[in-house]
Parts: sequence; structure tokens; C-alpha cells
Amino acid sequence: MNEFPEYACDYARKLAGRSARFALQVFARGEENGREGGEYGPDPFGETLERPDLPYALKQRFPDRVLVMTSGRCFMNCRHCTRRGILDSAQVVETDAQLAACVEFVNTHPLVRDVLLSGGDILTLPDERVMWFVDAFAALDQIDIVRVCTRAPCVNPSRITYELAKRLGASKKVWVNTQFNCADELTAEAKEAVGKLVEAGIPVGCQTVLLKGVNDTAEDMLRLFKALSAARIRPYYVFMCDPVAGIERFRVDLETAKAIERQCAESIGGLSMPRFVADIPGSKRKVPISELRQMEV
Ligand code: SF4
Repeated sequence: MNEFPEYACDYARKLAGRSARFALQVFARGEENGREGGEYGPDPFGETLERPDLPYALKQRFPDRVLVMTSGRCFMNCRHCTRRGILDSAQVVETDAQLAACVEFVNTHPLVRDVLLSGGDILTLPDERVMWFVDAFAALDQIDIVRVCTRAPCVNPSRITYELAKRLGASKKVWVNTQFNCADELTAEAKEAVGKLVEAGIPVGCQTVLLKGVNDTAEDMLRLFKALSAARIRPYYVFMCDPVAGIERFRVDLETAKAIERQCAESIGGLSMPRFVADIPGSKRKVPISELRQMEV
């Protein structure tokens, strides 16, 4: 049995039928269960470690941000997911007392100004539950940004309704961070979903993962960045694919990544050009790949 089961909602399955690049992100392969390429282990950022200094299901790696785990489910199990080894056992906030403990933690840590509502995908929860999280943190004066981290605009765009967009926008603090990995994913439905968010006053950013076979040429990336910009999505980061077990087939070597970044930077303006970074365990920031000689573990 696959350790990270294949799962995709109807929309994602249909999109996979039309786009081979997207299908690579949807369908499992036998070799995923091997240990090759797993230098980081199943939990590279210590998200499952017991931390007595942190409330249940709240994670902190950087002083100005906290991540609150809201759901252990997604609309699809992306084959390249860094959290593939921990999603089904993730701690998530479920009770009023747990949420109150997270709010209290933020209250007592005045440097925190940005709360990431993640998981899993927060939009797998009903609207009322989403707003339970958003309102709790948006009410704090010290909080400038409540990030709703969701792949819904890409993999299940009908989840973004006018009603939900209006409620998220009303907080005036929500930013939506999503993930599109190739231009094929910018369908009419996806663009409509993003339009609802933007028209509700919500900035939308995209974190792309550099994936072999999906977007590993400058031409692929430029097509994606232009499509994102045209849909009013700010390309924000391109992440190196983390060396977690089971996703070796997606990894692009550092020199190729640098060449793609350079060619893109020479071809497109800054507003459409994201930062190419690596997320390295223990680092105090996302590290620009231009600073790396090799992927440091
Ligand atoms: S939506 Fe994000 S957290 Fe969920 S499986 Fe995909 S990459 Fe992982």
C-alpha cells in the first residue's frame, strides 16, 4: 500500500485528464515508497515534534510568524508534498480552548504579526470553521496579515464562492497564498475563483514548487508567471523541491534551477518575477538559491 494514498477531488482528476503536467502531481508511482532521496526524513521542519513551549497545533520557526494547523486534509494529495509523511497524523486545532491557547500565545509574543492558517488545506473546512480561525486572529491589533494557505483556487476552484470571498475580504487582513505549478492549471474556473478573491480586496500570491517534468524549463516558468500575472496573482516564491522521501523523481538540480531563474529574470519584469528559494531546516529565512553552492542539508 502507498504510504501517501492517491487522492484527488473530481475537478483535479478532470484537469489531470487534460494536462500531463498536472497529472504528474496527481497520480502515484510505485517508487514513491522507496527511501531514496529522503535526506530530510519525513518531518524536515520538526512539525510533529512535541514543543512544550508552544500551544497544541501551533508552529513557530520565525519570530514574526506563526503557523496554525487547521486541517489534516487537502483537495488532493500532491505527489510532491513536503508534508506527505505527516499530513494524516497532523495535530490540528479543533476546540475553542485550543484556539484560545493559540491566540493567547500570539498575544504574549508581540513580534508576531503574520498568522498562517495551514495544514492540510484550511478550505477543506466549512466556511463557518474557516471564519472561526480568521476572525480569532484578525481581531488582534498586532496582526497585520492572516494568511489563508490553500490550493483550492488551483485544484478545486468551485470552493471559492462569492460569499466566502466576501467574508474573508471583510477582515481586511486576509491574504490568500496558493500554489500553481504550470500554466495549464490557470483554467477559466481557476481564474474565476481568483477573480472573486481579488474583487473582494484580497491579495493573492502564488508559491510554486520547481518540479521535474512539470515546470523545469525557463519557457515553462515564463508561461506560468505570465498566466499568473494576467490572473492578478502575484508570483511570490519558487521553492526547490525538498529532499523528502518518495519525491526524488521531481527534484531539479541546483545549477538547472539557477539557470531557469536567470533566464526568467532576463525576460520578465519584477512584478511577475518570484524569488527562487530553498527552505532549509534550521535556517532563519528562506534562502535564495543564488546564495547556495549545493543543496545543504
Ligand atoms: S495542497 Fe499543499 S499540503 Fe496539501 S498535499 Fe498539496 S502540497 Fe501538500
